[in-house]
Amino acid sequence: MSDFDDLYRDVILDHAKRPRNRGRPPTANRAATGDNPTCGDNCTVHLRLGDDGRVAAIGFEGSGCAISQASASIMTTQAKGKSPAELEAAFGHLKDILASGKTPADFDELSAFAGVHAFPARVKCATLPWHTALEALKQPDQPAQMVEGQKS
Ligand code: ZN
Repeated sequence: MSDFDDLYRDVILDHAKRPRNRGRPPTANRAATGDNPTCGDNCTVHLRLGDDGRVAAIGFEGSGCAISQASASIMTTQAKGKSPAELEAAFGHLKDILASGKTPADFDELSAFAGVHAFPARVKCATLPWHTALEALKQPDQPAQMVEGQKS
């Protein structure tokens, strides 16, 4: 196994090839866009924070490398039903994995990014969708049409 095999684990390849929650959910009323110029990744996250303070709907658009696309896909599957604080905590978990390169005992899909630790230039590919989602959570609610008309 080369380092590169580790980098592109099955979980990452699966999400990169078949991204979950791609597109803008019809109920979304908050959005943010981020980019990672060093790799050419860009990411827009659309979401709706429910009345219960939890993510009720989330989706993403954008393009980039397999790591950024897989990270966006996994982020959306983890974000649904979470409060902003819980999403921030999950992002902290990912950052720990990226910083240490270690796979935690309680395996979840975020562990797939442990291999990215060996490629510091790619860490931003993995964190971009999370930064963008947390930024979207900070935006005020907007009427759906305004979000629709927003161009970056
Ligand atoms: Zn990238």
